[in-house]
Amino acid sequence: MRSLVAGNWKMNGFKAESLELASDLAGRARSGAVCDVLVCPPSTMLSDVGAVISGSGIMLGGQDCHALESGAHTGDVSPVMLADLGCSHAIVGHSERRANHGESDAVVTEKAAAAHKAGLTAIICLGENAAERVEGRAKEIVTLQLHGSLPEGASAANTVIAYEPVWAIGTGNTATPQDVTEIHDHLRGELIRAFGDDGNAVRLLYGGSVNAGNASELLAVDNVNGALVGGASLKPDDFWAIVESGRPD
Ligand code: PEP
Repeated sequence: MRSLVAGNWKMNGFKAESLELASDLAGRARSGAVCDVLVCPPSTMLSDVGAVISGSGIMLGGQDCHALESGAHTGDVSPVMLADLGCSHAIVGHSERRANHGESDAVVTEKAAAAHKAGLTAIICLGENAAERVEGRAKEIVTLQLHGSLPEGASAANTVIAYEPVWAIGTGNTATPQDVTEIHDHLRGELIRAFGDDGNAVRLLYGGSVNAGNASELLAVDNVNGALVGGASLKPDDFWAIVESGRPD
């Protein structure tokens, strides 16, 4: 399956540096990208970054979205607003949202459903924390999160799953290819259980301290169909090295 490499810029980037990063990546993409590439800048920069990457083949995504289309929700961004700005994707259920904003699986399901309704692909994030891994509960946790966060109508065409062990995010502690194989094979089985054959076509991304040095071994794992990249997505050389580790088909 063609890989998707997605950059989650998180709450980083003033205007000048964001535009510089976007234009650097767009230049590289115009000469051809090995796989699909997505950038998710902060909402303040979506419009300007969207203009810079337009026509380069790089896709634009939001880092979160509200479950409703509009209304009295100060500070929130709706999936319809994201679509209006040219976004094709929205990340939902990132562990930082789950931890810092108390987002439960039920909330993540509503957000994913709203993203679908707006015509966006939802990137649903899940992953166990350090204590759950030590207790040997990683598979149990991701299974609960997966089935608890998939809305009705989810399919390979509108949903991507990102396995992001919390202990690996922003810590430099990357999961080993063996850890990733074990969880991704398990998630693939669960997706087939949920969707039948279509479960084979759902992209499964790995995220958690992916960098230029470890991307090729992680992206070579059988059921890894791309990466969700935080820190390294802010460095164009590093991010592009990860893109070049992806598979064309
Ligand atoms: C992320 O936040 O989705 C992420 C994977 O971050 P990092 O690559 O910095 O670990």
